[in-house]
Amino acid sequence: MHGYLIGLVGAGIGPSLSPALHERAADELGIRYLYRRLDLDELGRPATAIGEILAAARLAGYDGLNVTHPCKRLVLDHLDELSPDAAAMGAVNTVVFTGGRAVGHNTDWSGFVRSLALGLPDAPLDRVVLLGAGGAGAAVAHALLTMGAGLVRILDLDAHRSAALADSLCARFGTGRAAPARLDDGGADLTAALGEADGLVHATPTGMAAHPGLPVPVELLRSELWVADVVYRPLNTELVAAARARGCRVLDGGAMAVFQAVDAFRLFTGVEPDAGRMLAHFKEL
Ligand code: NAD
Repeated sequence: MHGYLIGLVGAGIGPSLSPALHERAADELGIRYLYRRLDLDELGRPATAIGEILAAARLAGYDGLNVTHPCKRLVLDHLDELSPDAAAMGAVNTVVFTGGRAVGHNTDWSGFVRSLALGLPDAPLDRVVLLGAGGAGAAVAHALLTMGAGLVRILDLDAHRSAALADSLCARFGTGRAAPARLDDGGADLTAALGEADGLVHATPTGMAAHPGLPVPVELLRSELWVADVVYRPLNTELVAAARARGCRVLDGGAMAVFQAVDAFRLFTGVEPDAGRMLAHFKEL
């Protein structure tokens, strides 16, 4: 019977729940599956060593890799083929070694689609505010527009990032579907954008243990607004707690993390894992 050898490449990935999630899903399917961490910090290698690590994994017989911060863009230069979505986003979190080729995919965006569909099934998407234009923000924006969002307003501390992401989304999804807004104007743009929005997606590191705090003033969280946080360590971020307390419909970052693993597992094995059991397992971890 074929067994699978999968790796996770990134920096500081010791606490990652991916090994446990993948291996349990495989156990339940009777599939032999080993999911190893390849931590850049432990290996003493810089992010730019991703090409070398990819080549080594391929040579050593790995079937695939998940790729995380800070290598999701850097890995692109070392792949033979990209899925259309990964190519459009310029970011890869899943590499499948198949027929001698390294093929890059992105399951962050599809994970967000499934988590939003499950957690906030009838959330209106006419106007959505996205805070954070980094890797997670780019995946969320691609997901929202693929799901038919009318307009995604993007804000980031780095105004060049929000402008560049909005430009690239408009080129792919049509003029006027995405627009940057400012954060350096005393909050006027954010207040105006949230005032007319259906929902807010938060995709900056704010709320993680190392970056505590609330990314938006609490008084902007109207009860009509749905709020999705992509941060999942912890699940109950200050934003999630504040939005719940204000009466908003809220989605935490857990289901996105699980569904990106569900989609990666299917790409690695060709077998659909039990997403419901993976969600339950994630909550136990
Ligand atoms: P990143 O560094 O690529 O991007 C973060 C962006 O946020 C940067 O552009 C930065 O300028 C901006 N930013 C930081 N603080 C800000 C603030 N206060 N206001 C506005 N913009 C601000 O990081 P990333 O890879 O996009 O990750 C962001 C978060 O998303 C992390 O907490 C990560 O764990 C989480 N994440 C979750 C999932 C999931 O499956 N749930 C997947 C990917 C990432």
